[in-house]
Amino acid sequence: MYWDTLTGRVIAPWDPGYDDARLDYNARFDDIHPGLIVFCQTVQDVEEAVRWARRHRIPFRIRSGRHSYEAYSILNRGLVIDVSAINHIDSDPDEGTARIGAGAQLLDVYQTLWDQGRVTIPGGSCATVGIAGLTLGGGFGLVSRQFGLTIDAVESMQMIDARGRRVDAAAEVHDDLFWALRGGGANNFGVVTEFTFRTFPVGLVTIFSLQWPWRRLPQVVRTFQAWSDPDDLDRRITPILTLQSQKAGHVSIIGEFLGLAKELEPLIAPLLAIPDLMAENIQEMTYIEAVRRFAGLGADPHRWLAHGVPDQDTFKNTSAYAYRTLSESAIRTLEDALSETPGPSCLVQFGGFGGTIGDVAPEDTAFSHRRARSEIQYQAYWSDPSEGPAHIRWVEQFRRAMLPHTVGAYVNYCDASIRNWPEAYYGRNLHRLMHTKRRWDPGKVFRFPQGLSELC
Ligand SMILES: Cc1cc2nc3c(=O)[nH]c(=O)nc-3n(C[C@H](O)[C@H](O)[C@H](O)COP(=O)(O)OP(=O)(O)OC[C@H]3O[C@@H](n4cnc5c(N)ncnc54)[C@H](O)[C@@H]3O)c2cc1C
Repeated sequence: MYWDTLTGRVIAPWDPGYDDARLDYNARFDDIHPGLIVFCQTVQDVEEAVRWARRHRIPFRIRSGRHSYEAYSILNRGLVIDVSAINHIDSDPDEGTARIGAGAQLLDVYQTLWDQGRVTIPGGSCATVGIAGLTLGGGFGLVSRQFGLTIDAVESMQMIDARGRRVDAAAEVHDDLFWALRGGGANNFGVVTEFTFRTFPVGLVTIFSLQWPWRRLPQVVRTFQAWSDPDDLDRRITPILTLQSQKAGHVSIIGEFLGLAKELEPLIAPLLAIPDLMAENIQEMTYIEAVRRFAGLGADPHRWLAHGVPDQDTFKNTSAYAYRTLSESAIRTLEDALSETPGPSCLVQFGGFGGTIGDVAPEDTAFSHRRARSEIQYQAYWSDPSEGPAHIRWVEQFRRAMLPHTVGAYVNYCDASIRNWPEAYYGRNLHRLMHTKRRWDPGKVFRFPQGLSELC
């Protein structure tokens, strides 16, 4: 067989387990059938896979946790280089660092770091997202206003480049690559195999969840905006505002506070004063319990869940950033879109920025949207395939209707229908990213529909 030289666990379409091996998280892309999937067990397997794909001119994609919104980690016919088995998590308490394999999933990362020494890294809330995809696009989560984006905790990375060679990326070595991988790194420069992160001590935290009837939407949005001003809000709080479809009947604010409940209560007083509060939950717990709550794994998942928990979901999500306070006209646009949804599982979320995220200059890493007030995620979920087109249309119309009030988009919430994606994702960092791409991958070995290779 011509793939005899590929090393690792190689799965072909006729092998048992192929159907499980080929799927990404978004069931919208279940009809994609890769030609081969190699589950790399070691860094050498990754080197071999890149060289093999080049030698045979086989198109390929890189995969870690399978959560790409547009399934950019799989492709028809070509090779999937899967790093999920390279998933070691080793923290060094003396150094305050952790070495994490590119295939580790977030819940395993948080749990292991907690078990090894009550430390963490700032990252997303979904248990099964891969550390590689999350980090290479930025990485926002419920402790980000205190500890930064995931990229802000990266000290160094190991990568296999376009020639199948191992390279290190850090401030002291290949600083151009180190810069580019932090925000523009997914499938653009090489296969990252390991991250070294700075870790942060954690202990007790307080989480909160507040809910109002849908008709209070304008007031909740106005108060949330004033309260979560990036310069004023205590950075130990990271909040998420969720505006559901009118059919779902409510709007809510959840958040995590790196401190005790008695300290939090006065800090959220402006939110508690919004009339018609239907449900108020404030709970002190260990950091790891909070992680499990927000991943939907603890008690009362519907109250706390920041993202879905099944093995797969069928959805269309997209994104933007709010750089300014939303005007009354923008709030009316939110209300209009959410009152005419194709189904009940349609929503928009605002994740509060500022704090440590905003301390870093937009040009210091490839992640350019440092000065945003919040990231915005428009979301639609459905189960009957016939409902797909209406949901996809709703998301796109919503995003477009909000364009006069928003800026850019988050590369980790990628959306194939954004035409000006290079500027939307990378803003003023695009030019420097392109320069780095030409240096590290002049032959455009790493490519995908929204890759920098499409612009060279
Ligand atoms: C349910 C859900 C919850 C989410 N929650 C959050 C959240 O709280 N915060 C947040 O910021 N984001 C969140 N995201 C978005 C998430 O960060 C992105 O989807 C991310 O790209 C997923 O990474 P992955 O490794 O799981 O996915 P994959 O599909 O495996 O990869 C995503 C992209 O990264 C590339 N890639 C993967 N591994 C490597 C590697 N080793 N080297 C180079 N390129 C690689 C892939 O080719 C692909 O382009 C969520 C997504 C989902 C579906």
